Amino acid sequence: MTEAHDWVGEAVAVRRFQERLGLPGLVDVHVHFMPENVLRKVWDYFDALGPLTGGVEWPITYRAEETERLAVLRDFGVRAFTSMVYPHKEEMARWLNGWAAGFARRTPDCLHTSTLFPEPGVESYVREAIESGARVFKAHVQVGAYDPADDLLDPAWGLLAEAGVPVVIHCGSGPAPGKYTGPERVERVLARHPRLRLIVAHMGMPEYEDFLTLAERYQEVRLDTTMAFTDFADRFAPFPPDALSRLSGLADRVLLGSDFPNIPYPYVHQLEALERLGLGDGWLRGVCHDNGARLFGLE
Ligand SMILES: [Zn+2]
Repeated sequence: MTEAHDWVGEAVAVRRFQERLGLPGLVDVHVHFMPENVLRKVWDYFDALGPLTGGVEWPITYRAEETERLAVLRDFGVRAFTSMVYPHKEEMARWLNGWAAGFARRTPDCLHTSTLFPEPGVESYVREAIESGARVFKAHVQVGAYDPADDLLDPAWGLLAEAGVPVVIHCGSGPAPGKYTGPERVERVLARHPRLRLIVAHMGMPEYEDFLTLAERYQEVRLDTTMAFTDFADRFAPFPPDALSRLSGLADRVLLGSDFPNIPYPYVHQLEALERLGLGDGWLRGVCHDNGARLFGLE
C-alpha cells in the first residue's frame, strides 16, 4: 500500500455511503484473494503493463499483506466478499480450489470461491467443490485463453446450473481482448444452459450492450460493476449513455464488484461512480447489498 493512500480516512467515506443508504454493509462479488505467490505474479503483470492491462498504467492501490487487506475490507464494512482465483493453464484449478477452500474456512466473511478450466477431470473437481460448499465460481476467459463453449466444460456448466451456483465470468474484451472474449461464445453456453447463473464481470466491458441483451434474454444472467463507470474505465471503455435506462430494468441483477485489491484508484471511487449514474437510492441499495445478499442467502 502506498503511504500516500489514507485508507482510514477512506473507510469513513465508504461507511458514510452505506449509512446514507441505510445498508447493513456491502456485498462485493469481485474481490481477489489468492495464494501469495500467485498474487505477487499478478501484481508483477500489472506493474509491467502486461496483457491484463491492455498497456494502461495500473498502480495497485491496496498492495499489502493478506491480513491487512482483510482488515481494510472489514473497515470498509464489506460484509461478504469472494476470493476470485483463476488458472491460466491446465492442472492449476484443483490446487487453487484447495487453497480457496482453506481461505474460506479461516475467513468467515468470505464466500467460498472455486474456479475451473477446460481440462480432463474438470467435471469431477467442480462436483467436489460444489459438494464441499463452494458458493461462487470464477471463470477467466481472457487470462485462461479458452473457449467457454469448449465441450470439456459442458458437464461442469450443467452441474453449476443445476446447483444454482453463480459463476463470475470475465468474458468481455476489456480492458484487453482475448482470443475467446466477447458475447458470442457466452451466448452459446447459455443456449445450452439457460438457467446457468453467470455474473458477467466488468458489466461486459467494452461490449456492454451485447451483454445487457444477454441479461435481458436470460433471467439468471447478472452483471458485476467491477471498474465500470469509473474515471479510469471511462478513459478507454465508457459506458454508452443510451444504455443507462437498461440498467434500471436490470435493477435486481446488477451486483457490486470492485476488483479489490488490484485497482488503480481508491475503493470509494467505485461507489461514487455508481452513485453518479443517477439511478436512485433504491437502485444503489440493490446493487451494493440487497441483490448479493439475496443471491447468496445472507441473513
Ligand atoms: Zn478481477
